[in-house]
Amino acid sequence: MSNTDTRDPTSLRTPIVAVLGHVDHGKTSLLDKIRGSAVIEGEAGAITQHIGATAVPLDIISTIAGDLVDPDDFDLPGLLFIDTPGHHSFTTLRSRGGALADIAILVVDVNDGFQPQTLEALEILKRSETPFIVAANKIDTVPGWNVNEDSPINDTYESQSDRVRKRLDENLYEIIGNLSDEGFSADLYWRVQNFQRNVGVVPVSAMTGEGVPDLLTVMMGLSQRYMKEEMEIDVAGPGVGTVLEVKEEKGFGTTIDTVLYDGTIRADDTIVVGGMNKPIVTEVRALLQPRPLAEIRTESRFEKVDEVSAASGIKVAAPDLADAMAGAPVRVVRDRPLEDVVAEVEAELADIAVDTEEQGVVVKADTLGSLEAMADALDEAEVPIVRAEVGDIAPRDISVASTAEDSKQQAILGFNVDVLSDAEQRAEIDDVKLFTDEVIYQLIEEYEQHIEELERAQQDTILDNIVRPARFRILPDHTFRQNDPAVVGVEVNSGTIQNNANVVKFENNEPERVGQVKGIQEQGEDVDEARAGNRVSVAIDGPTVGRQIEEDDELWTAVPEKHAKILEQELASEIPGDELEALNMYLDKQRSRDPFWGK
Ligand code: GDP
Repeated sequence: MSNTDTRDPTSLRTPIVAVLGHVDHGKTSLLDKIRGSAVIEGEAGAITQHIGATAVPLDIISTIAGDLVDPDDFDLPGLLFIDTPGHHSFTTLRSRGGALADIAILVVDVNDGFQPQTLEALEILKRSETPFIVAANKIDTVPGWNVNEDSPINDTYESQSDRVRKRLDENLYEIIGNLSDEGFSADLYWRVQNFQRNVGVVPVSAMTGEGVPDLLTVMMGLSQRYMKEEMEIDVAGPGVGTVLEVKEEKGFGTTIDTVLYDGTIRADDTIVVGGMNKPIVTEVRALLQPRPLAEIRTESRFEKVDEVSAASGIKVAAPDLADAMAGAPVRVVRDRPLEDVVAEVEAELADIAVDTEEQGVVVKADTLGSLEAMADALDEAEVPIVRAEVGDIAPRDISVASTAEDSKQQAILGFNVDVLSDAEQRAEIDDVKLFTDEVIYQLIEEYEQHIEELERAQQDTILDNIVRPARFRILPDHTFRQNDPAVVGVEVNSGTIQNNANVVKFENNEPERVGQVKGIQEQGEDVDEARAGNRVSVAIDGPTVGRQIEEDDELWTAVPEKHAKILEQELASEIPGDELEALNMYLDKQRSRDPFWGK
């Protein structure tokens, strides 16, 4: 690879850097700024455009950083920035045992502060134990800001008014406070002694370049200090990498954009790639790099190279890659038994594999890494998974989801995937609910809301079919008819009288059935039920006033034992307080005779 670096390339590789953060907080702008500064500062070709990544060599970093970086303090060759920002690509970027990115920049808008995706990114960084620094971006938007293009933060900070400085400080401390709420001890980067224990916050502007020298310095220092050992690789050894993206490319068929993090890959290598069903064994047909800008008009966008070494981004063209998965491992075989390499890839895939249950929801995601992140989040939310796969939502996923025994599990959660049109139709016919989103927590929240609605609907139907408790009293001088049926005025003390309910009366706690409600009238109008506090007239089929019932008698609707049990054990929180009171009094009466009644 063209590189002005003269240090021994056989031992230390470039650390891989990923940029994360909430949408619109400036991830892309920051990457553009770093690339742009590198192009301006460096000789043409000094920064190398890779597939999916940009390599910024140490001498360019030290030129941008000025006094902040003395190149003699470093022996790492520079930094390799992954070009696709966002935690989505970050989760894809995994290597054996964790994140592929060695280090991350979490971008937070100083004015906007912590947002949902900031939290989600932090969660992922925590889980993958990736060291990171926080770029507190958009400092130039603080009202009254005095711009000093590309200047280190200290210089530009000095040139601001007290008011501006105060405002910036407040915003920065808010971010530090938010980090601390999430369990990270953080401080402004110049106060951090130990970057392994504390998160450094670097104020920057991706627009004006202010603070970018500091950002690069801190990244470089952090890698040099704490990651040097991990960067020691056998550069000449067989290449190891991760698929970033699977892409059709005119003239080359299916290709895999790969980030190589160890060893070398050559144009005549046999490679093993993680596939949908099993590892794919194939021969490299071409290794492709982006053509330098000056030559781009000549022919293809790509240039064939004979070999590349870690760390780098490379497009690999080879037969049989259609089943390759983003996030899957790539390993060069070279001088080793093929079975060993296949076994290594299988082991890595198994490592990423999601635990599934007999029953559960179907999960689809665009990459292995995001599938894993989804599975983790669902595990936390205690949602079981029956099947988890990389790919768009297809009709066969609907078939799987439609067989779920529990209607709550007749659902597919798709992260960053499309729904194929025939799948959408099938889902409607089979009553399978589809949820798709590009933010994991939102996706899970949508599903949980759906579950709540389902549960509420289920309870409503149960309640509709259950006899509700009521305690009521026959009012004195309110007998309108003696019998066939008896019609009396009553006051409902607690609970709800429903039409057709059976009526009981307790004599010394012994329930005696007196008849059945055959009509309720409130102010001359027929009604289906009467609630606590109402005075209504009821027709009761069965008794005669003066014999089985008397004026002033306390009566109850007869709640069947099974219904009483469901009400007490499952629906107690769903029914109104007065109804619960009626239920409890009713249970007390029944249980004074039979302690296990309704249990
Ligand atoms: P991303 O979604 O995180 O990649 O955010 P972008 O890089 O696309 O930035 C979102 C918007 O914020 C764009 O309009 C940028 O021009 C703007 N922006 C990004 N960084 C800065 C900054 O430092 N200062 C100012 N004033 N605007 C910025």
